Amino acid sequence: MPRSRLSVQTYIDGILTGNRVILSQAITLIESNLMSDNILAQEVLQSIMPHTGKSIRIGITGVPGVGKSTFIESFGTLFTKENKKIAVLAIDPTSQISGGSIMGDKTRMENLSINKNAYIRPTPAGSSLGGVARKTRETMFLCEAAGFEVILVETVGVGQSEIAVKQMTDFFLLLMLAGAGDELQGVKRGIMEVADALVITKSDGENQKNANRAKIEYENALHLFPSKENKWFPPVLTCAALQNQGMENILTMIEKYIIHTKNNDFFITQREKQNLYWLHQNIKDVFEEKFYQNQHIKNSIEEYENKVKNGNILPWQAAKLLWNMYENGLENKGS
Ligand code: GDP
Repeated sequence: MPRSRLSVQTYIDGILTGNRVILSQAITLIESNLMSDNILAQEVLQSIMPHTGKSIRIGITGVPGVGKSTFIESFGTLFTKENKKIAVLAIDPTSQISGGSIMGDKTRMENLSINKNAYIRPTPAGSSLGGVARKTRETMFLCEAAGFEVILVETVGVGQSEIAVKQMTDFFLLLMLAGAGDELQGVKRGIMEVADALVITKSDGENQKNANRAKIEYENALHLFPSKENKWFPPVLTCAALQNQGMENILTMIEKYIIHTKNNDFFITQREKQNLYWLHQNIKDVFEEKFYQNQHIKNSIEEYENKVKNGNILPWQAAKLLWNMYENGLENKGS
């Protein structure tokens, strides 16, 4: 169905006055695969940039079933009770592989989704993690300009999506199950190393003992990691989101972290570094997209893939030859 587009100024005014309908329409522009929509979206983004950056950005990760939706439902409600506006975004790289997504298939966050202080946007679809991550980050900016004070960005522990979320948030929270075994939880050492806190979920009933034991084990494990540049030692907490237990502690801990990193300037330097990270990431994405769309490459890539597969040529050499082909193609087109 053709969608009516508004003028750039209407989007901007709508977003800045916190109009949710227009905010949603602007996000749809960001998510669109139409070039004309993207151009419009970039104009809107450029204009609202001075109004962004004032929120606290919190990343949340953990394997499916760890209790992310339940946690966000409970944790998010805590903010809304303080009359804070909270937006929940997501990066789910499985949405482009399976058609459906790990996150999206169930009814999630029923109460939060009807809370007037909360705004929930599912993960954008996309053919690459780079594209999905960029759209989520740009959506975050729109939400900030629309007055959201807390942005939660959720992801599942799949592939590089956690790195993408880490690179767009101020605080990165890893949710863990007690007694499930690290391998089962897909816990990569690297993710534990970059987490700003660990929270053991479902610490209720019979499981409470396990959760407390896991807390000590993870505290010990974290001591083995080198100390962080931000001089923050990641704590391990427990919670039972279904019973709304442990949530205030987590909020207090995050507030402490924000004060700590604002005082030692890490908060701002991290955001600056993140901007640079996305610049270089986007450069790679732009190149890659242009490269694979090039007709010479489209014609030859399969041949080179086969040669590399069979060991007839080294990947690096194949990449160089293909690059030459791409560059020569551009020159010929230009002449
Ligand atoms: P997600 O896949 O990580 O989003 O996990 P969900 O939030 O959907 O939770 C997975 C399952 O764990 C659901 O059946 C929840 O009801 C359950 N669950 C979540 N939090 C708690 C909790 O605090 N205590 C208990 N006992 N179960 C929980």
